Amino acid sequence: MSDVRNVIIIGSGPAGYTAALYTARASLKPLVFEGAVTAGGALMNTTEVENFPGFQDGIMGPDLMDNMRGQAERFGAELVPDDIVSVDLTGEIKTVTDTAGTVHRAKAVIVTTGSQHRKLGLPNEDALSGRGVSWCATCDGFFFKDHDIAVVGGGDTAIEEATFLSRFAKSVTIVHRRDSLRASKAMQDRAFADPKISFAWDSEVAEIHGEQKLSGLTLRNTKTGETSALPVTGLFIAVGHDPRTELFKDQLELDEEGYLKVDAPSTRTSVTGVFGAGDVVDHTYRQAITAAGTGCSAALDAERFLAALA
Ligand code: FAD
Repeated sequence: MSDVRNVIIIGSGPAGYTAALYTARASLKPLVFEGAVTAGGALMNTTEVENFPGFQDGIMGPDLMDNMRGQAERFGAELVPDDIVSVDLTGEIKTVTDTAGTVHRAKAVIVTTGSQHRKLGLPNEDALSGRGVSWCATCDGFFFKDHDIAVVGGGDTAIEEATFLSRFAKSVTIVHRRDSLRASKAMQDRAFADPKISFAWDSEVAEIHGEQKLSGLTLRNTKTGETSALPVTGLFIAVGHDPRTELFKDQLELDEEGYLKVDAPSTRTSVTGVFGAGDVVDHTYRQAITAAGTGCSAALDAERFLAALA
């Protein structure tokens, strides 16, 4: 059995590495499980990040994450590129188990496992991510000035993304598989009143076209099966997110959408000594800087919790 650590961090996106940096600088020697194939988190899959403060000319997503990783390591964070496959957070000493079956123990745990955007599951979707295909209007809208854009989805997020994108775009087509929207009435009214927004009702994306960049879509009518071409150079997919809380669902309180509940503005979860930060908690902002911000809060909350134990 391993020694009891002060703090274990599960997850290595902006929230996890920031929590690692702060707890390492507080001499807590954090042990960080980064994930086996997705170490570095969501920004490892993107190109230019232009809205993380401190980088005047922007920075590539993987470079930003390498910098965060290196900064945490410099102060003594111990980083392990492995997944945690089970946890027991109920006792005073928490345990987490890695893929080799090794059990690690700590007085505090910070959960920063992020959330996964839902995909359409089409060929080319991943290959053209950052090359016309996006999951975040706030992040990428600026790159689409005067483009023709499609937004897929019919909920609040999709309509919010579409109205935001219409500031930049030449046109925005909302592609929705039904003939009415799920979004709130106020959102719908805004979208219907926007002259740049039009609707492809009863439609789904059948194919995504393009070699180096998105060049267009084929839509399929969900009632008739008929196909049609939609010549767009931007595709924003807003069909939902799945917070990565599977491991915690029987031990930590989650909200109705599966996000980790915290006692905001603190990062305390429903279990003493367990803290949550980043996109696994947040279904509102979902930005690298907000994830880093709450990662900092979680580290400070954990630090104070540990100090009170001493
Ligand atoms: P994530 O970055 O998702 O990291 C979660 C981490 O947890 C991963 O490393 C994963 O490996 C790990 N993990 C999960 N489960 C386990 C487990 N069981 N064991 C161990 N580790 C585990 N935001 C911006 O501000 N600007 C942008 O330009 C921008 N562009 C984006 C482009 C794309 C394509 C995407 C998908 C997102 C973009 N975002 C952008 C959003 C931003 O990436 C997220 O808001 C941010 O990464 C959330 O950080 P996080 O630390 O909460 O989670």
